[in-house]
Amino acid sequence: MINVLLQSITTEMFVGLAFCFGLVVGSFLNVVILRLPQQLYAQWKEQSEEFLSRPQNAQDTPVETILWPPSKCSECGHAIKPWQNIPLLSYLLLRGRCANCSSSISMQYPLVELLTGTMIAVTAYHYSGQIEVLYAVFFTLVLIALAGIDAREKLLPDQITLPLLWIGLIANLNEFFVPLSDAVVGAIAGYLALWSVYWLFKLITGKEGMGYGDFKLLAALGAWLGWQMLPLVILLSSIVGAFVGIFMIVLGGKDRNVQIPFGPFLAAAGWIALMWGDKIISGYSSAFSFY
Ligand SMILES: [Zn+2]
Repeated sequence: MINVLLQSITTEMFVGLAFCFGLVVGSFLNVVILRLPQQLYAQWKEQSEEFLSRPQNAQDTPVETILWPPSKCSECGHAIKPWQNIPLLSYLLLRGRCANCSSSISMQYPLVELLTGTMIAVTAYHYSGQIEVLYAVFFTLVLIALAGIDAREKLLPDQITLPLLWIGLIANLNEFFVPLSDAVVGAIAGYLALWSVYWLFKLITGKEGMGYGDFKLLAALGAWLGWQMLPLVILLSSIVGAFVGIFMIVLGGKDRNVQIPFGPFLAAAGWIALMWGDKIISGYSSAFSFY
């Protein structure tokens, strides 16, 4: 029954619907990106105070959670009405300004919405008509949230990276993307690869080149993509990361010691590897083969 229904919907309709779905979910991801780190910081503060047996400050303002309170303007606190909360359209209609105090609305909102819509549409097109599409959409959404949080806060929360790893293994229990053995080796090798780079860098320079969150994210990518994709993911993320780093030093006048989070590059490379990894690798090996 579902198969008949699926076949009657054309790919174009499916991709269009996926784009609209992506816009709406992108709007929700904006909230996750902004509020989840604040919620975690408040939890860590509470736990630290408890551990140190310090009296807790009862006057603390209630922490915003992902579901509460409803969206409001960050400048004037004006509650955002439903029609002002339509992904992308509202930003255009309001010309990027709050309807009440006309302070400018962060470009992050429409950008994340548009990016999510586009990436979900591409994912839907790529996996159209296959059950894998559900997992691939989930993978895409989680990577966007992680990239956004890491870009803003230099943080890849365990609360997201670890479930991403487990769910990757569960997906591959059914060999949705790669055989389970490749996924398990991928998770282990992904963690160890960056862990060794971290310690090598630390022993040589005495500095920390990346965070533990990066190891866990690459472990999760290995669980989804299999160990065979890890070299491609590391290569792609390093090349793009190096370009962006040089760009920021040259143009932004940032000094060399500025920390650029690696998570967004890992996430982007992981997504590209899920979509086109096989093609890239086979194209690469045929271009360099001497047979
Ligand atoms: Zn306002």
